[in-house]
Amino acid sequence: MRFDIITVLPQLLESPFAHSILQRAQKKDLTAIHVHNLREYTSNKQKSVDDYPYGGGSGMVMQIEPFANCIDQLKAERDYDEIIYMTPDGQTLNQEIANGLIQHKNIMILCGHYKGIDQRIRDIYVTKEISIGDYVLSGGELPAAILVDAIVRLIPGVLSDETSALSDSFQDGLLDAPIYSRPVEWKGHKVPDILLSGHEAKIAEWRHEQQLQRTKERRPDLLND
Ligand code: SAH
Repeated sequence: MRFDIITVLPQLLESPFAHSILQRAQKKDLTAIHVHNLREYTSNKQKSVDDYPYGGGSGMVMQIEPFANCIDQLKAERDYDEIIYMTPDGQTLNQEIANGLIQHKNIMILCGHYKGIDQRIRDIYVTKEISIGDYVLSGGELPAAILVDAIVRLIPGVLSDETSALSDSFQDGLLDAPIYSRPVEWKGHKVPDILLSGHEAKIAEWRHEQQLQRTKERRPDLLND
């Protein structure tokens, strides 16, 4: 699965993909993540990618030309299943959206800055708009990194124990159960006895009950769905 991310700040995307699970996934060729610097696709000498908004108002707008040049070049090289714009007014990212996107081969992601990107880029090229939540960040890079992480960890073979992604929160509509590791007792706080019993079926039942209880307390909306 291949990602092409278009950004005016490629440096912001260096670290998120250079460590741990995302780095291993690339080394194992389970995914390829390419970051493109938007400034390399401008025709003006100053390499600027933004301009004042028509109609006035505060903030700058990212111009159509650099995005169009970069997108057209990438599209000439391969077909894209989705061209996604990260934006606060998009569909809010959740596990279901991430699960749906792992079916794809090539995904392009556009990162905005300033006031956002010229509406015509969205009208002409973008096939999906995704928000990471109801708050506004300064750029689309962190949202893009979050989206890529959410998708890549689902690719079979990326996590060492494949079932671990399936047992995470939201996959079955429930939050995850509490987890414990050594030592058995820490300053009077003990691991629940059931987890030390070695009784697999009873442990599974306990975990399911904990998931239900936690979901009921923290996210009753998930149970209603
Ligand atoms: N004027 C816009 C906000 C622009 S913020 C508005 O009010 O909707 C600048 C850029 O940061 C956006 O173009 C987008 O790419 C990114 N961004 C900010 N918040 C985001 C969020 N919650 N989800 C996804 N992308 C976001």
